[in-house]
Amino acid sequence: MTGTADPDTVPSPHPGPIGLMAGTAARRVMQSLMRTGQEARFIGGCVRDALLGIQAADVDIATPLPPDEVMRRLRQDGIRVIPTGIEHGTVTALTEGASFEITTLRRDVETDGRHAVVAFTDSWLEDASRRDFTFNAMSLTPEGELYDPFGGVRDLKTGRVRFIGQARERIAEDVLRILRFFRFHARFGQGRPDPDALAACATMAPLMPSLSGERVQQEVMKILAQDRMVEVWRLMMDCGVVAQILPHATNIPRLAALDRLEWLVGEAHPMAHLAALLPSGLSAAADTAERMRLSNANRDYLLALCAPPVDVHPDLTVTSRRHALQKLGPETYRDLLLLAAATRGTPAVELLEALAEAATWIVVPFPLKGRDVLELGITPGPEVGVLLAAMEGWWAARDYRPSREDCLTELTRRVNERLARE
Ligand code: ATP
Ligand code: MG
Repeated sequence: MTGTADPDTVPSPHPGPIGLMAGTAARRVMQSLMRTGQEARFIGGCVRDALLGIQAADVDIATPLPPDEVMRRLRQDGIRVIPTGIEHGTVTALTEGASFEITTLRRDVETDGRHAVVAFTDSWLEDASRRDFTFNAMSLTPEGELYDPFGGVRDLKTGRVRFIGQARERIAEDVLRILRFFRFHARFGQGRPDPDALAACATMAPLMPSLSGERVQQEVMKILAQDRMVEVWRLMMDCGVVAQILPHATNIPRLAALDRLEWLVGEAHPMAHLAALLPSGLSAAADTAERMRLSNANRDYLLALCAPPVDVHPDLTVTSRRHALQKLGPETYRDLLLLAAATRGTPAVELLEALAEAATWIVVPFPLKGRDVLELGITPGPEVGVLLAAMEGWWAARDYRPSREDCLTELTRRVNERLARE
């Protein structure tokens, strides 16, 4: 049976293709695929988003054509195409500065909780059935005809994240779906989540440690960027999901306090949300970064937030504030200030004052380098670093005002003094 057999077609009115899906680049790609009467449709997240009037960043297209035929046609029509995942049926078309992932219709042959072995099919319904949630299984023709085989439109309207088929079975096929469930509940859900799905997540959570850190990272960072992150993280803790993947990330009251402050003073870096959930100190943060396989830059940022090299809180003296800003840079300083305010329950007005200062402060780079010390005749070695550090202290104590020239004069004085002593 194929989805083309009418029952799953939802009649208009609905918005039809929008954004990138409605542009000339998409039209070119679609025309190339459909040239000899075959079907091609937009599918998955981009269709769901279009129905909500949101322009999706990534546009997926599905077709019954096999991948080599997709490549051949697009190339023939002068469209650049890259075999990004050709062994599982996906190629990427690039035209007019836009990109589209085109995937041949598939069905699962074998699943093991992490990877699936797939076979190509010409059945739209088979392809829809291997997707995770009802509202992620919809497809849309370029003419605006919507296919909704599992009632995704209704579930989207009522804010119900519903697995296609039995939640437990679908999670057993791919454990990542537990995190996707919470992410979509945070984004589209209304009220309490589906009790069956929630129970299945709790039962299957012990399988989660088999997930790769990268996949956990991707989903967790998306969850922690949602407006409803606090409520959803609490649900994840109640289900035992957090204990399986990020056992240190449990400080809900602090995340809630940070969230309330952000409503008033503006967003923090998503990494600050993770930091809010963690105990302070290096060890939990380092372990969490390792479990999530964070990039070096993100790991360093998380460590800076959980174990800052300088103490930051809203009651610092002006001098210490400037010192911290100078040392940490305005972004880290701002996030640390928010985190400290969340811990202490600082009123937002007080925080706003400190933040306003941070926003106007420009970090001045320390004007001297090791080379300046060497040029004055000091031999390479630990002494260079000692002199530089002392100079940085001198410069900081003068409110970072001395210019490079002033610093060089003072450095020369110190070096001469030292040489005279020897
Ligand atoms: P986003 O808006 O974050 O991109 P998305 O739903 O588009 O969300 P993608 O990861 O881009 O998510 O996947 C595109 C589509 O592929 C989904 O809408 C869904 O139909 C299907 N899909 C992705 N991951 C899974 C999965 N783990 N199990 C089943 N189907 C999936
Ligand atoms: Mg997507």
